[in-house]
Amino acid sequence: MEKITKALVNENIDEFRQLFLKLHPYDRAKFYVEQSPEVRKRMYYYLSPGEMAEIFDHLDIEEDEYKTYLSEMDPSFIAQMLAQMYADNAVDVLNELDKKEAASYLTMMGDEAAKEIKDLLHYKEYTAGSIMTTEYIAIHANQTVRSAMQILKKEALHAETIYYIYVINEHKQLVGVLSLRELIVSDDDQMIHDIMNDQVVSVLVDEDQEDVARKMKDYDFLALPVVDAANHLLGIITVDDIVDVISEEASDDYSKLAGVADVDIQRSP
Ligand code: ATP
Ligand code: MG
Repeated sequence: MEKITKALVNENIDEFRQLFLKLHPYDRAKFYVEQSPEVRKRMYYYLSPGEMAEIFDHLDIEEDEYKTYLSEMDPSFIAQMLAQMYADNAVDVLNELDKKEAASYLTMMGDEAAKEIKDLLHYKEYTAGSIMTTEYIAIHANQTVRSAMQILKKEALHAETIYYIYVINEHKQLVGVLSLRELIVSDDDQMIHDIMNDQVVSVLVDEDQEDVARKMKDYDFLALPVVDAANHLLGIITVDDIVDVISEEASDDYSKLAGVADVDIQRSP
């Protein structure tokens, strides 16, 4: 860490990038928030919007702190960064801004990224829809393992998880699921409908995020698909998003508890 700070202070871009990008994104995020605003501003010049997106995807801060960091960046840099974040995380950031500012970033980014984010912005806070991501992998039942693997290979880089592959019909309704392990161990010529699980556990898009957390825990899945009332696949929620929910809810409950305790103490003579 010291070496990285030194490289930054000495304006040694190559050295900084080489050392910094070797860190796990979580450690990069930790380093980032520990810096002074001046040093952070230097980081925006030394890193691309995509590299900053990775940091923002891993930030462990109170949501209202996003504003502070964004105020240090150029608007077009912010737009490009948001476009390259996972859509669900980008929505968390945009929800903290006033509507006008959020809209301005959406118009600055590419149509595809903007649409994905806009779709998610419609969902109410604390629902499955608000924490899901639309970057999942879906295949069709009437294809072979070979062709499914090709899709997987093409989409793996952008999917939030490749661990589960969801099977949809021609109406985009969820009809099955396969784990990556199950796909890999199958013969190339096998049909997906012969090997998929058709009893899919899913959550409704307006279901409370606490219920989602409970379901994830009960079934021990690493991700859950999110559907609407007509069983159309809308997105997925991965276990790392649920960990955030659980710690949020735990600290909420704790402060409620602490609040009650305070009152009790004040009331006692
Ligand atoms: P591993 O050995 O890593 O656990 P796995 O193939 O057993 O690999 P799991 O995550 O344990 O993967 O999943 C267990 C089973 O549940 C798999 O058969 C998987 O296809 C299935 N599955 C995954 N998601 C769902 C879901 N939403 N509803 C129903 N079944 C699911
Ligand atoms: Mg298993």
